[in-house]
Amino acid sequence: AKNAGKDRVTVFDPALRQAQLERTRLTAGLRQAVEGGELVLNYQPVVDLAGGEIRAVEALLRWSPPGSRPVPPEVFIPIAEETGLIVPIGRWVLEQACADARRWHEQYGISVTVNVSGRQLREEDFTEMVLSTLTRYGLPRGALVLEITESMLLATTPAETRRVVAVLEALREHGVRIAMDDFGTGYSSLSYLRTLPVDILKIDRSFTTVLTEADHRTRAFTKAILELAASLNVATVVEGVELHEQAVLLQRMGCPLAQGYLFSPPVSGLQIDSLLSLNPWR
Ligand code: C2E
Ligand code: CA
Ligand code: CA
Ligand code: CA
Repeated sequence: AKNAGKDRVTVFDPALRQAQLERTRLTAGLRQAVEGGELVLNYQPVVDLAGGEIRAVEALLRWSPPGSRPVPPEVFIPIAEETGLIVPIGRWVLEQACADARRWHEQYGISVTVNVSGRQLREEDFTEMVLSTLTRYGLPRGALVLEITESMLLATTPAETRRVVAVLEALREHGVRIAMDDFGTGYSSLSYLRTLPVDILKIDRSFTTVLTEADHRTRAFTKAILELAASLNVATVVEGVELHEQAVLLQRMGCPLAQGYLFSPPVSGLQIDSLLSLNPWR
């Protein structure tokens, strides 16, 4: 009887009801988003801390449903993952990023990095889809980086993990590099670093934010990650650099690459063109 009462409260909770309606509305909207041309990619530069050159750009998805404000990725990406819509959406993202990156890679030698969900990696034809897209746009080895997160492996069995590792290894053999995103935010970051074939570590913004606030533990931790990565021959990118002093400190600590509002927020492809020709941080 107690449980029934609880359920009833849940069903008629107006706030929860509102949230459910919103989810249903967003799911329906997302189904149209690819074909309706409502998706756009923005790009954020990844900058060499020593020389100031742009080395890569990260593709970040934006969704503006017709007649309403843009929906933040933190809201629609989880819905896309749960509904499986991330598969066609992710295919569109890769396609668009490769189309845009071709010219940037040819002229400036920069690579493009694309976020990939666990759901996509588990698709039977993922490797083939990535490789055929690279061929179609004539992108050479090294031009594409795929970003994965450790949370992607949270609920997987050892057999599934082995399959994911095999997929990543096959891609690497074809010159696709793998970056581990949001590094340091999960519970088993270090063990994943041992298990997964990774070329690049992206150190999460939560480290950067507290770095300059006399936080000795975070500083020691960040330094240890940077040293470990260097000895494993893994490149490091620090995320969320907003202040000049953070950039200076990180460079001194041995971090080669950074990304953040200090340099640029995510911007349109056209704005990337002008950033590449101006090269404002060199
Ligand atoms: P992420 O991959 O960790 O991307 C970095 C996020 O941090 C971006 O948020 C970016 O705008 C923001 N950011 C960059 N520099 C700074 C800074 O200096 N300060 C602060 N406060 N924030 C900064 P965004 O674009 O809202 O994306 C949020 C998340 O959505 C991404 O986190 C990623 O997990 C997901 N996402 C975005 N695009 C895609 C996509 O195409 N596919 C998938 N699967 N996920 C995506
Ligand atoms: Ca990312
Ligand atoms: Ca990240
Ligand atoms: Ca993130």
